[in-house]
Amino acid sequence: MTPASPAHPSGLADFCWPLPAQPGDPLASVDTPALLLDLDAFDRNLARMQDAADAAGVALRPHAKAHKCPAIALAQMARGARGICCQKASEALPFLQAGITDIHVSNEVVGPVKARRLASMARHGRFSVCVDDLSQVDILAHAAAEEGSRLGVFIEINIGQDRCGVNDAPAALRLLEAISRHPQLAFAGLQAYHGGLQHLRSRSERQLAVVRASVQTTAFVQSLAGRGVSCPTVTGAGTGSVEFDLAQGIYTEVQPGSYIFMDGDYGRNEQGGLRFEQSLFVATAVMSDRREGQVVVDAGLKSLAVDSGLPAVWGEPGLRYAAANDEHGIVQRIEAGAPRPALGSLLRLVAGHCDPTLNLHDHLVGYRGDRVECVWPVSSRGMSR
Ligand SMILES: *Cc1c(COP(=O)(O)O)cnc(C)c1O
Repeated sequence: MTPASPAHPSGLADFCWPLPAQPGDPLASVDTPALLLDLDAFDRNLARMQDAADAAGVALRPHAKAHKCPAIALAQMARGARGICCQKASEALPFLQAGITDIHVSNEVVGPVKARRLASMARHGRFSVCVDDLSQVDILAHAAAEEGSRLGVFIEINIGQDRCGVNDAPAALRLLEAISRHPQLAFAGLQAYHGGLQHLRSRSERQLAVVRASVQTTAFVQSLAGRGVSCPTVTGAGTGSVEFDLAQGIYTEVQPGSYIFMDGDYGRNEQGGLRFEQSLFVATAVMSDRREGQVVVDAGLKSLAVDSGLPAVWGEPGLRYAAANDEHGIVQRIEAGAPRPALGSLLRLVAGHCDPTLNLHDHLVGYRGDRVECVWPVSSRGMSR
């Protein structure tokens, strides 16, 4: 934690608990490891996604699990987002405190404690959540009754990811009947999300997978319509599939998250009509230089998620990040002629997976050109209950 007051009771100077940077600092002086955001690329990503959603007549509800940062959510809302998604009830708290009052928890919650947290927040905004089991409906209704609030409830349907969600229309109808019995709950529609297909590498594969998933979603919507039930909202989609999801005419709302940042994994996708730029980097400094053919940098497992592979060194094709230890990274020269970064110099790494990388940092340092412009708290980091 950064102490608020310069006169810290320990008597230690304020810079002993440093922010990674201050607005106006030169980029090269950022204290590493630090999370960097190229604000020009970020702004273009925001605009491209909002413009694409607007052109398709589909609402944009960006996923905040990617950034966990209220300042970013406010920027998305200012551009026209309908609200945000969170993945956990507690993740939503800092966003609600920042004034964002339309939040969908795009996930199931289990047990009375989480339901109560959600129902309590719903006294201050428009909240919704997913269900795929009857027992969850009763727990949510009970919590909302206790809090005197109302919750929107989405039925999550399985469209091929085989993670959460009901498999067939009869199961969805049973949930719908249960939701209708509770005055504290309002049926909000269907959530149809398939995370796996986002990462199919070729555009044609992704498009085909989206069409297949849409056929399944359409079948659910038609089954409900056959019983006289219309879905107020059909929500889903992510960065890898959104250009195709927008064209299907079945979603009324899309939930992409990573598009604002991109990452090593999405960088391996073939991009097409709707392109997003890499804007997120982990700044790391060369901290030791004693071995031939390699240098050691100060960003390791505690600064970078490696579940989607080791990071790339941005703009340095001759360098390879070869191994991550807790607080060390080994960067090798893979081309004989590659420049050897000097001790103390700063490298920019592209993390394999943006979402869990954000969760490792307290601050996001926004910059334009070679100047730091802002330092935003990643307020929902660690809020995983
Ligand atoms: C993660 C997630 C998203 C966003 O996915 P990206 O790949 O970051 O765009 C959308 N919806 C749900 C339910 C998710 O879990």
